[in-house]
Formats: sequence, structure tokens, C-alpha cells
Amino acid sequence: MIPYGRHSVDQKDIDAVIQVLQGGWLTCGPVVEKFEQKLEKIVSAKYAVSCSNGTTALHLAMLALGIKAGDVVLVPAITFLASANAARYVGADVVFVDIDPTTGLMTAQTLEATILQYQDKPLKAVVNVHLAGQCENLEAIHMVAKKHNLLIIEDAAHAIGTIYMDKNEELYPIGSNAFCDVTTFSFHPVKTIAMGEGGAVTTNDPEIAKKLKLLRSHGMIRDNSEWEEVESGPWYYEMHELGFNYRISDLNCALGLSQLEKLNGFKAERSKIVAFYDNAFSGARHITPVKKLKCSDTAWHLYLALIDYDDLGKSRAQVMTDLKEKGVGTQVHYIPLHKQPYYKKLYGEMTLPGAEDYYSKCLSLPLYVGLNQESQRSVVSNLILNA
Ligand SMILES: *Cc1c(COP(=O)(O)O)cnc(C)c1O
Repeated sequence: MIPYGRHSVDQKDIDAVIQVLQGGWLTCGPVVEKFEQKLEKIVSAKYAVSCSNGTTALHLAMLALGIKAGDVVLVPAITFLASANAARYVGADVVFVDIDPTTGLMTAQTLEATILQYQDKPLKAVVNVHLAGQCENLEAIHMVAKKHNLLIIEDAAHAIGTIYMDKNEELYPIGSNAFCDVTTFSFHPVKTIAMGEGGAVTTNDPEIAKKLKLLRSHGMIRDNSEWEEVESGPWYYEMHELGFNYRISDLNCALGLSQLEKLNGFKAERSKIVAFYDNAFSGARHITPVKKLKCSDTAWHLYLALIDYDDLGKSRAQVMTDLKEKGVGTQVHYIPLHKQPYYKKLYGEMTLPGAEDYYSKCLSLPLYVGLNQESQRSVVSNLILNA
């Protein structure tokens, strides 16, 4: 069976984890800091704060930016549940933004249209999701958001290794926060870099970084210069606000650190597979790859194909079942969030034409490091035969 995605772990990764097992720190040790420093370097951020997964990264980001009950957060309708749920964790409400059906991405235009539609609401922040690893025009999104006084969280769960290119061809790695306040990452095994479970928030603001670290570990303050009561004694610590245990272990970080060393190679191999599929589907009537944007030097996490099932005369379920019988796994990214019963109950029925058009066509094809050429050809021929 060819799955739609899988991790790639080699002997170096295994050795790195074993080394931690043989050392003195399984968690809260030096490898966590090493991982954070490596991530800071790779994405050109001043601060990287690791945490237990991409969802807790989003939750910490919301908390550190002071987003709270009464605020409204804009979230694209096509993303994983966590992008919106994190706003709900802090009691904020969500407004869904439509996307460009040719890419699945929120644009400056769809964002601004939604802001104008909901301008009587206390809009506070926007989550910009780099679906499949690709990023939109970040300057344009930044301009719209700042014009309306919105904070920007980039959900880069898919986009470690992607580089945004502005109109002067300046390069900005995703995570450098050149056009946002904070960026969140996920290192779940289906994502580009696997840590088992893992996540991180990057920022260039020392106050936000400090807050993220505090909230990640119960809100415990060990630095005596910041205590309210002065008590002496090596046992003493204070808590000023409610925090969590969202830490990540040295074991996970050893794997992550070793995986990050291979990021450029992973990106190159994934790009090659994407180019192979794009080329193979260039003549196929029913299959259109998502549009590739010039401003994004993309580290592809997913391969998104848009299939005209109506024209094909076969449902998506049937296409997926037929492919599965031939040993090809596929997936759908994602069911529009405004169609989820939880959000429908909260905010009522709504129609977002771009998201619904995209959802009616999308199918994620196998894309991972180690997907060999024979498997790639098998995906293409089975899909085209099916189509
Ligand atoms: C995977 C994912 C998350 C959550 O990451 P976890 O590490 O699984 O918690 C958040 N946002 C998006 C877009 C994702 O794909």
C-alpha cells in the first residue's frame, strides 16, 4: 500500500534518540534548547519556543498575543480543525474567511472582503494558513491586516522550509515573522519534519517569547527578580497566571534536531515528486494540480490535485475506493470548517463559494520522502486510468 504521507526516519535519527536515552535528561534538558536554536537559525527567527504539538503551539500563540473572550479571530475555511479551535480555547469567536479555489489559500482579497463584511465585530487577529506548504502574497495580507489593526498568526504546520519571495525578490523564510507577529509549526509524523509529536512558536519579540515559555510550563517563575513576594530558599517559585504543561521532551527534540538537518534534502525530494505529478497531469482532462504561486518557494507537505468528479462521472468516494484497491492511498485536505457540526451549531449555516468549490474537487495524492519512481508512476497511471 502506498500511503498518502509518511515519515522518513534513518539510522542517524535513531542514533540521536538513543543518545538521549543514554544521557541524564529525558526532558527539560539541553537537547530542547539545541532544537530551538537550530529552528531559529533555519527559519531566521529571533526566538523559537518548542512545545508538545502544533495545536498547543497555536493555543500558546493565542495566549501570548492576549487574544481572549470577546475577541474575534479570522480563520480560512480550508484548514485543519486546530487552526480555528485554538481561538475557541481562549474563548474567542471565529469568523471563517473564504479561499481561492485554485490554491486553497486565503488571499488579501478574501481576507479584506470578510473584514468588511464583519466590521461591526471586535476583530482582533487573523490566522494565515500555508496550506500544503505554499504561501500567498504575505505583504498584501500583512497590509490588509494591519490596516484593520489585526494581529497575524501564521499557521505553518505545513510550511517548514518554505520561503516567501517579495516583489523585489527578497527572500523571507516562513517562520521569520517578517509579515506576521508569530508563526506556529507542527512536527507530527505526517508533516514534513517528524518528532513523534512536536510543535513550536517563533517570534522576534522578546516579551512574546518570554510569555510563551512561561505559559508552556505552568506559569512558574523561577527568576527571583520577578517575584512579587520576596522569600528566600532554593525551593521557591511563583505563579502569576495560569499556565499549562505544553513542554516537549529531549527525546522528541533529538529526533527533530536530526530531522531538521535533512530539511533541504526533504524539500528537494518532495519538489521533484511534485514536478513529476504536475508534468504527468498536464494533459489529463479531469485533473488539475493546485496553482503554484511565484511568491512561494514551497517545501511541499501535500500534493493537492483538483479533480472534476462531475465531468468524470464518478464520485470522489468511488475514485478513492478504486485507488485503494490498486494500493494507492489518498486523503482529503480539508472538509471546510464552517461545515463542521460544532461550528454550524455555534455560527449557523453559511456558504463560502471558494471553499466549497475547492472541497468538491480536492484530493491529496501520495507525497513523502522515499516515494520511489515506480510508486509515483503507479499513482499517476492508476489515477488517469480511473479518470
Ligand atoms: C497538523 C496541523 C495542526 C496541528 O498540529 P498537531 O501537531 O497535530 O497538533 C495545526 N494546523 C494545521 C494546518 C495542521 O495541518
